[in-house]
Amino acid sequence: MAFINIKNVKKNYKIGDNLIRALDGVSLSIERGEFIALLGASGSGKSTLLNCLAGLERPTSGEISFGNISLNNLNEEEVTKFRNLNIGFVFQSYNLLPHLTALENVSLPLIFMGIGKKERDEKAFKILRDLGLSKRIYNKPNELSGGQQQRVSIARAFVSNPKIIFADEPTGNLDTKTSFEIMDMIKEMITKNKQTLIMVTHDEEMTEFADRTFFMRDGQIEKVHEKLSIDEVLN
Ligand code: ADP
Ligand code: ADP
Repeated sequence: MAFINIKNVKKNYKIGDNLIRALDGVSLSIERGEFIALLGASGSGKSTLLNCLAGLERPTSGEISFGNISLNNLNEEEVTKFRNLNIGFVFQSYNLLPHLTALENVSLPLIFMGIGKKERDEKAFKILRDLGLSKRIYNKPNELSGGQQQRVSIARAFVSNPKIIFADEPTGNLDTKTSFEIMDMIKEMITKNKQTLIMVTHDEEMTEFADRTFFMRDGQIEKVHEKLSIDEVLN
């Protein structure tokens, strides 16, 4: 049984008389600990696939399962609980709450998990320190640079040690140097914790961090690029 299994997933949107096939029969399986990149032009269906995987949107048909749990069999409340316990999110625009400090932003997922204040603060501080932000914990987002805000949002995604991380254009607003620093940090964290990462990007350079890259076009997976293992490179 695959860690994540996507079976012939379709997602249609109706706009007036027009039917938009945002996902047009996507099938793939992902193993635990894999770093997957989804690459494709704007409108190719990347965000829709991520949203369906996160249970934020329901596919029109097909099935998404995590191990032996099929999202089709969960109601909205169960999907929300599954998401809060298992999935961390990193966004292009950071999505930090502006009136909260870095420490408070990072603590949020732990509140949803019912963890007490002392433990929340300890965990949030530790991960912010690991990401080089110990002097910034009481700063609010508008007092931080873009790279620092993205590190806070990475801290928030990882603080609850979720099994799966979804990153939607995590380097989309960052310069090249900061993008590589951020990707190095993400890669180090998922490797250390054996987490599975699915990243949407349109920056081909960022796919070099991924184990596999899926190229999307018109709601379908057009091709897959697998990174050669070290054995394959040597042979
Ligand atoms: P990408 O992330 O690759 O840019 P999206 O998944 O956002 O692509 O969009 C895929 C297609 O579905 C596009 O044609 C987009 O306009 C359409 N789409 C996405 N979300 C909606 C929505 N909520 N309502 C209608 N159409 C949508
Ligand atoms: P980076 O190279 O990490 O992206 P910048 O060059 O943008 O950082 O910023 C340099 C320093 O200025 C950083 O330590 C950052 O905390 C601080 N800084 C950046 N933007 C702001 C801001 N809007 N308010 C306060 N301090 C800021």
